[in-house]
Amino acid sequence: MKSDVVIVGGGISGLSLAFYCAKAGLKTTILEKNESAGGSFNSHRYTDNDASFWFELGAHTCYNSYQNLLDIVEACHLSDSIIPREKVPFMLLDGKQLKSVFSSLNIFEALKSVPNMFSLKKEGLSVREYYSKIVGVGNYNKTLSHFFNAVPSQPTDDFPADMMFKSRPKRKEVLKNYTFTEGLQSVTRAIAKSKGINVFTSQEVTGIEYLEGRYAITTTTGMIHSAATLALATPSAVSSRLLQTIEADIAGHLALLKAASVDSIGVVVKKKDLSVKPVAAIISPNDIFFSAVSRDTVPDDNYRGFAFHFRPGESEADKMRRIVEVLGISADKIIHKHEVINTVPSLKVGHKSWLEKMDTMLSGKNLLLTGNYFGGMAIEDCVSRSLSESARLKRG
Ligand SMILES: Cc1cc2nc3c(=O)[nH]c(=O)nc-3n(C[C@H](O)[C@H](O)[C@H](O)COP(=O)(O)OP(=O)(O)OC[C@H]3O[C@@H](n4cnc5c(N)ncnc54)[C@H](O)[C@@H]3O)c2cc1C
Repeated sequence: MKSDVVIVGGGISGLSLAFYCAKAGLKTTILEKNESAGGSFNSHRYTDNDASFWFELGAHTCYNSYQNLLDIVEACHLSDSIIPREKVPFMLLDGKQLKSVFSSLNIFEALKSVPNMFSLKKEGLSVREYYSKIVGVGNYNKTLSHFFNAVPSQPTDDFPADMMFKSRPKRKEVLKNYTFTEGLQSVTRAIAKSKGINVFTSQEVTGIEYLEGRYAITTTTGMIHSAATLALATPSAVSSRLLQTIEADIAGHLALLKAASVDSIGVVVKKKDLSVKPVAAIISPNDIFFSAVSRDTVPDDNYRGFAFHFRPGESEADKMRRIVEVLGISADKIIHKHEVINTVPSLKVGHKSWLEKMDTMLSGKNLLLTGNYFGGMAIEDCVSRSLSESARLKRG
């Protein structure tokens, strides 16, 4: 099957790149390993007779600073599907007690450190180095570090501080934070249906060859796609493996990056069976899970949903035991369960030099690389990377 561009990986990086390529009039194909596109940007739906309830197992919140994403949302006629997220608190689990994040902070220590907020620059500093000066070492160790670890579901002490929470220009007329009527899957579906984009799911790419100026891409089902331009929108380790035989230097540079697996279990419970007060998420320091993100931000009349993001390697029995303990229910009250494994990058200070070298290596090639390991892991970082790669393609 022939296309102008073949994109491997149908997460938000691959989808947004496909959107830009199709907009430029290119016949674009996405090959996605899973049964549906979306990757970490993929709502899951529980249905039973008349019941229908979606919840997120990966990304859950978009912001009015996600300008490139908003441009795509508007082009896909989804602006009317944007809905607010209810203001419910993030809670810390202290033993068996849920406490607000703010009540866990030592205010005197925080006040003493506040002046640093105006003078200290994030650039070149790790999350630990920067934030322990902004809120105080005690506050950082006891509270804030657990909140940060919950964002990419892994220890973040060594993450570059300027890549965690970026300040970006905002669209003031758009809700500060939001989701969509059908969850983030609304966006995935709309992009996948756009004119000029063909999405093939359950197609894991296993081999890539480069012959006479075209790429030949093979999948586990034996499908062979060919294109003048290849884009990889898979986790860095997968992209490295796929490029091994055709671009050994780039594959080697990709292999320098580390990533973490996030082992997530989503559960649905009837509202009447749960006494935990509405929360945005439960963050549990030094536990087998980093966070349990709830759907209470978009309340439903009948159901509540929680996505528990576990450290890798825990047994199924331990994970389920912890879920029922934290929710204070018996196992038979869980009416639906769904598991996924996502990959998030483990970024380190100095990542920008890695990125500069990667862009130099890619220069002049008809090979595009996008993903959550370039400018940051937020949805907007992924879309922005795809936008700049599509611009490189246009420049030729
Ligand atoms: C639990 C969690 C919560 C998050 N919350 C937020 C949030 O609220 N807001 C925010 O801005 N960001 C959030 N993020 C970050 C953001 O969601 C991700 O960084 C982003 O969605 C990653 O998109 P991606 O397309 O780069 O990668 P992925 O979503 O990982 O997509 C890669 C795709 O490639 C496919 N693939 C892999 N190998 C192959 C192969 N050989 N052949 C074909 N296909 C292949 C995979 O199946 C996958 O679909 C969160 C992430 C996680 C994990």
